Amino acid sequence: MTKPDRTGELAGHFRAIIDGLGEDPQREGLQNTPTRAAKAMQFLTKGYEQSLADLVNGAIFESQMDEMVVVQDIELYSLCEHHLLPFIGKCHIAYIPQGRVLGLSKFARIVDMYARRLQIQENLTREIANAIESVTNAKGVAVVIEAQHMCMMMRGVEKQNSLMKTSMMLGSFRSSQATRTEFLNLIQKR
Ligand code: ZN
Repeated sequence: MTKPDRTGELAGHFRAIIDGLGEDPQREGLQNTPTRAAKAMQFLTKGYEQSLADLVNGAIFESQMDEMVVVQDIELYSLCEHHLLPFIGKCHIAYIPQGRVLGLSKFARIVDMYARRLQIQENLTREIANAIESVTNAKGVAVVIEAQHMCMMMRGVEKQNSLMKTSMMLGSFRSSQATRTEFLNLIQKR
């Protein structure tokens, strides 16, 4: 089943928003803006059309590796669900495999799949951790996200240098202080 194309409908809403902001949607610079904005927002929320199974697509490999694997500094671009403004930052992921490892590029794809939805950083962190746990059956999974929120930087309290950090620890990262500390030390070193 193919999804109906809703670009035209969305563009109409963007035209109304531009008008509502007191601008003239017919002036030259804005004539194609509703369509461009509609396409941009569809791209930024295309994670809704993806599923974990399709995305992983068999990239799970048998391995005897049973030590911590860390994937650091995955770029992250998302939209806050409260203001529809971007929050951008980095995601760090670690897991301790037990028999299966996940292809490296899949970590970034999992981050993108959940980031390209309307999100709050807390839920995004949890969803990424749960997804990695479910596809790898790892002994432990840790996810840390550090991000800057445009809704805080450009409006409201206008704090330009605040960084929000969230973490989700599952399995041995939750039960073992030593494992958690090892991970946090590894991602401090740049
Ligand atoms: Zn916000």
